[in-house]
Amino acid sequence: MKIEKIDHIGIAVKSIDEILEFYRDVLGIEPVGEEIVEEQKVKTAFLPVGDSEIELLESTSPEGPIARFIEKKGEGIQHLAFRVDNIEKALKELKEKGFRLIDEKPRYGAGGAKIAFLHPKATKGVLIELCERS
Ligand code: ZN
Repeated sequence: MKIEKIDHIGIAVKSIDEILEFYRDVLGIEPVGEEIVEEQKVKTAFLPVGDSEIELLESTSPEGPIARFIEKKGEGIQHLAFRVDNIEKALKELKEKGFRLIDEKPRYGAGGAKIAFLHPKATKGVLIELCERS
């Protein structure tokens, strides 16, 4: 497994439009590619920052994982995503090491990336996403 870089940091917000008043209007970062990921009941917008990005996450349903996260912990950093060169290989390697995963198989996230989450119990509370982009 090769971790190439921090791909993005996911931030849970109640309203992307509202938080853009900070990121776009105050910091001057233009959002790219607003997208709804139906499967995860989430709307996302990416903010490129150098070689990494900030992923804004807004729930499209009160039952979605982002809505539940905000209910429990409030708005804020929700996950950290590492770019890997081969996600299937990385998941296989983690499984062989006995590591707890949320996703045994990659699924498709925003921008067509292949993603998988590791279990936060095994990473001291940090939700880590692996992400492969072609
Ligand atoms: Zn993400």
